[in-house]
Amino acid sequence: MKTLGLIGGMSWESTAEYYRLLNTLTRNRLGGLHSARLVLHSVDFAEIERLQAAGRWSEAGEILADAARSLEAAGAELLLICTNTMHKVADQVEAAVSVPLLHLADATAEAVRAAGVRRVGLLGTAFTMEQDFYRGRLASGGLNVLVPKAGSRALVHRIIYEELCVGLVREESRASYRQVISELVAAGAEGIVLGCTEIELLIRPEDSPVPVFPTTRLHAEAAIDAALAAP
Ligand code: GLU
Repeated sequence: MKTLGLIGGMSWESTAEYYRLLNTLTRNRLGGLHSARLVLHSVDFAEIERLQAAGRWSEAGEILADAARSLEAAGAELLLICTNTMHKVADQVEAAVSVPLLHLADATAEAVRAAGVRRVGLLGTAFTMEQDFYRGRLASGGLNVLVPKAGSRALVHRIIYEELCVGLVREESRASYRQVISELVAAGAEGIVLGCTEIELLIRPEDSPVPVFPTTRLHAEAAIDAALAAP
């Protein structure tokens, strides 16, 4: 099995889920006491969030590039950035190392296509929903991407940073997300990309009338497929 390198801590609530899923998937595939070979570099999310809010992306990118170098030096053979939003600096991270990066939007687009879905609603941070680095990557993966209207985007964004990233899973927020999902379905979405690694802590398949695509799980599955593939 290849050693995975995780750039995590954004937030650690979802990185913990990555760790659980990567180990569970490895045990399911290999059986017995097998667990995932991985190295984790977990950053201080407060520092990253300040840089995001200030639009200082290249400084945030440098922190992640340093993390990537340390993972490569520690023996990682395949890197994962454990957040959708920070894929905004994926090129900067990739340029810092010689090991490959498994891009979250590519793993997601592939799973959506495999399910026979083409038009998806995208939930995530405002950066992810509004900027091209993620939507564009899904579109080049063959998907037609819808996002919620402005007021709903602000609500989805606020719940991520004020609740999910600090471990709060609230019933009222689940109801609000369900409402936003129904708006996307009414606009034609055939599936919903949970494009923020904490959303699947709140939204389950039964909260949506159309299939949901949970990006933490999809990224973890793609990583284990790659790590266990024959050399
Ligand atoms: N984990 C989130 C994501 O997947 C949001 C936190 C962040 O800004 O990195 O986008």
